[in-house]
Amino acid sequence: MAAAPSPIRPEPFLAIGPSTIKEELRKERNRLRNQHWGNTTGLRQAKHLLGGYNLTRYGETLNLSKGKLRIITGFLTGHCRLRGHLHKLGIWSNDLCRFCDVNEETPVHLLSECEAVERRREGTWAITGQVTKQYNR
Ligand SMILES: [Zn+2]
Repeated sequence: MAAAPSPIRPEPFLAIGPSTIKEELRKERNRLRNQHWGNTTGLRQAKHLLGGYNLTRYGETLNLSKGKLRIITGFLTGHCRLRGHLHKLGIWSNDLCRFCDVNEETPVHLLSECEAVERRREGTWAITGQVTKQYNR
């Protein structure tokens, strides 16, 4: 039999259990995380690709190998070896997508827009179990 909750001062005594308090704190923590994420300026690529804060995804990311983490970081920041970024750095002559040769080659373009890699992209999402609608905003 569980012990009755002890009164929390000041009076009047409210019978709020520990699990209720934990749940409210968890909700408040998530609300503040999402608020911080939304109020942080910049992060255009990451916000577009990730949507909001996700603790499960965060934990999964930490378990990735260094090589995979480097690729994901590059895609989320836009600082990767795609032609859009290489062109901005003056390393590549143009910023056009190597697959469709129409749009700027960016992570967002390859992950959600490029029609030339659409079949490959959908196959990859099906294999990894990713939710494609998350990347198709
Ligand atoms: Zn393309």
